[in-house]
Amino acid sequence: MPQRVCNFSAGPATLPYDVLEQTAKDVVDFQGLGMGLMEVSHRSKEFMAVVDRTEELLRELMQIPNGYKVLFLQGGASSQFFMVPMNLLSIGKKATYLNTGTWAKKAIKEAQLFGDIDVAYSSEADNFNRVPHQDEYTINEESEYLYFVSNNTIFGTQFQKFPETETLLISDMSSDILSRTIDVSKFSLIFAGAQKNLGPAGVTVVIIREDLLSRAQEAIPTMLKYSTHADKGSMFNTPPCIAISVVCRVLEWLKGIGGTDVIQQRNEQKSAIVYEVMDSGSYYRGHAAKDSRSHMNVSFNLPSPELEAQFIAEATDEGLHGLKGHRSIGGCRASIYNAFPIEGVQKLTHFMEMFAQKNPV
Ligand SMILES: *Cc1c(COP(=O)(O)O)cnc(C)c1O
Repeated sequence: MPQRVCNFSAGPATLPYDVLEQTAKDVVDFQGLGMGLMEVSHRSKEFMAVVDRTEELLRELMQIPNGYKVLFLQGGASSQFFMVPMNLLSIGKKATYLNTGTWAKKAIKEAQLFGDIDVAYSSEADNFNRVPHQDEYTINEESEYLYFVSNNTIFGTQFQKFPETETLLISDMSSDILSRTIDVSKFSLIFAGAQKNLGPAGVTVVIIREDLLSRAQEAIPTMLKYSTHADKGSMFNTPPCIAISVVCRVLEWLKGIGGTDVIQQRNEQKSAIVYEVMDSGSYYRGHAAKDSRSHMNVSFNLPSPELEAQFIAEATDEGLHGLKGHRSIGGCRASIYNAFPIEGVQKLTHFMEMFAQKNPV
């Protein structure tokens, strides 16, 4: 194995090393076919089997009930910001959104192109340091769906309890899909760009209730209709073959370690180690309110921007990479997705303790 750094990057993010190694082999020679993964037809039986296996694993790991379609799309999670309202919102009708961060805000902006968007909650005045409890917002009765972001990648907040509603529930789970056990039957649509918890950039997973496929208006482009991709098993056009293949391998890895119950426990254990260091003194200040803390992204500040810059530089020298916070909030952020090992978290907290001792304020 080559020298690996601890990669705290928010996305693209660290992947299991075995997956990288197996993919490297696939790229050169896919299943002994004398062709590499980038060269093989997406309609070959070998590649079709990869797509089928990926869906099967996702269904098994998330316990996706019958009556849902699984789609592998392109255009990133950001394309879902418009595909959701384009396909699900009737002309002139309402939808309710919870504004809990940058990704929610971007989704709201796109949805406003299609209908009357009711922003029922916003934590923007507090720089998105929390997500709401159920009693902090009301869902407009005429709303056709409620949209929320389950984990706010930039601000490090996460819904520990999902909204409950009679209307359709839609969630952007790009940065916490498969990080915990959830009840898919509560949702009408879940989507996730792959590059945080599932694999590489290039493929976006959409899980959609089948009865919603017929809702789209006629006058939308074929490629942007969910039904197009559902009817053709995500093979309407050439899919992102490599990305899907890597997702397949990541899902095999997750199944191998015991699935979502096991990874949830590990994720809770990992984040607890970092939050404990933050809570044990006043040197590191977490951005998220305690009841909204994310198990995936831990955003924090040091006593001054100068110390933050020094912290990030010295951490990098120690092999702790990608700790700089998102440009919109500054500070530091440790992204510790499924594939990030606990040893890396321990290295980080050890470094945090040493740094605070050496640089008192
Ligand atoms: C990263 C991210 C996105 C954007 O994903 P792209 O694939 O780059 O479009 C959207 N939502 C959330 C929650 C994210 O973390």
